[in-house]
Amino acid sequence: MEFCNLASGSKGNCSIISTKNVSVMIDDGLNLRDLSERARLANIDLSKINAILITHEHTDHVKGIASLCKKYSIPVYCHSESKEFVDTMVYPYIVDRDMDAPFELGDLTIAPFRLPHDSNYNLGYKISQGKSVLSIATDLGFVSEATLEKLKGSDFVMLESNHDIDMLREGAYPFMLKQRIMGKNGHLSNDDCASAVLELAKSGTKRFLLAHLSQDNNTPEIAFDCTAKNLENNYYVEGEDVFVEIANQYKSTRKFNI
Ligand SMILES: [Zn+2]
Ligand SMILES: [Zn+2]
Repeated sequence: MEFCNLASGSKGNCSIISTKNVSVMIDDGLNLRDLSERARLANIDLSKINAILITHEHTDHVKGIASLCKKYSIPVYCHSESKEFVDTMVYPYIVDRDMDAPFELGDLTIAPFRLPHDSNYNLGYKISQGKSVLSIATDLGFVSEATLEKLKGSDFVMLESNHDIDMLREGAYPFMLKQRIMGKNGHLSNDDCASAVLELAKSGTKRFLLAHLSQDNNTPEIAFDCTAKNLENNYYVEGEDVFVEIANQYKSTRKFNI
């Protein structure tokens, strides 16, 4: 299967997973014009998307969905706890499905799992095609043992690396917002991401995409260095044993073959 992230961060999120027979979008927090432009540049045909899976109801993950599913009549998969917060225009497209249980879409097996975040509900996804497995986990306050167990066994993991803790503490955000981000239901720090990446590397995961970086409290270099140094301190060489890349708010990643 092929994975491409079209946008990642608090201004909009969108990823696409494709095989020869199915194409699935995770979140759409981009307006239709930006999404269409990024899809065109990445050589992705939006009319071929078979399903949109929602992680949670925050605007940066759902604001483009109403116009997209309407334009191409795409079924939407959304946890029942998130549904009431989603644009009512999306309702006719929502598939009635238990989002706490795994299900099949074409040749993909989709296994949703809950993540701790200050939305009504938040899902990570473990998606497999045969022996190839990828996982997505963004917008999480911390990596619990349960989350780590879900992520294990993945060939590729897109994991949040939201903020540098010192930049956040010393930065200009109001106290309450800092507390929210640092809380158990907030966003994942670079340090916590680095620890999880190391544990996953030990269990055999080789490729990582660090995602949902804060524009104010992080930089791609700081996020990368935090994870890469923690790996190297534990005798994993980034670029040889384990590969780490960074998702971008404003442009698509390359296509990863998994
Ligand atoms: Zn978000
Ligand atoms: Zn969120």
